[in-house]
Amino acid sequence: MIPLLLQITHKAIIIEKDLTTIGVLAKAKENSNEDFKTYLKKKNSTTIDALVFELNDIISPQIDCTACGNCCKSLLINVTDSEADALSTHLEQSRENFDKQYLEKSSTMMLMNAIPCSFLSNEKCTVYEHRFAGCREFPAMHLPDFNKRLFTTFMHYDRCPIIYNIVEELKVKTGFL
Ligand code: SF4
Ligand code: SF4
Repeated sequence: MIPLLLQITHKAIIIEKDLTTIGVLAKAKENSNEDFKTYLKKKNSTTIDALVFELNDIISPQIDCTACGNCCKSLLINVTDSEADALSTHLEQSRENFDKQYLEKSSTMMLMNAIPCSFLSNEKCTVYEHRFAGCREFPAMHLPDFNKRLFTTFMHYDRCPIIYNIVEELKVKTGFL
């Protein structure tokens, strides 16, 4: 039998997609979100993951990332050596020129050097098939250990409608609200 906590009713979930509204609401919820993080940490991690996966399956298809693109407009994406090799080859560009044009390097990591991302054009990724692992994974709602990624999840809560709506619905489903 499925535990009661996991029985998400498929009644219509009201989805907020407007980034300005989400920004305003996120600001207003700053304090209660700190309480929610504390509340979540006391919950069973596997149960929370199952709830987040179910909510992700319901909410993500209702949000059109190509109409949003806010992650591509506001995040510096981490790039690995092999990803830079693959994309520079695809762009028929030497690695040296690719690095100069697109990357910011420190001793420990490489990041895309521009916000919005240089590969975003007309709200679309121009290198979609070759986009980086960080782009593919974001917003990571399909990955386990939600409870261990609360810092990064809430860092992006006000910029990503998928995260915002999953978190808000999670508050209801866990009984926090
Ligand atoms: S992952 Fe989130 S921030 Fe990125 S485009 Fe989709 S909804 Fe927008
Ligand atoms: S590579 Fe594509 S998916 Fe990744 S941040 Fe740039 S535009 Fe977005």
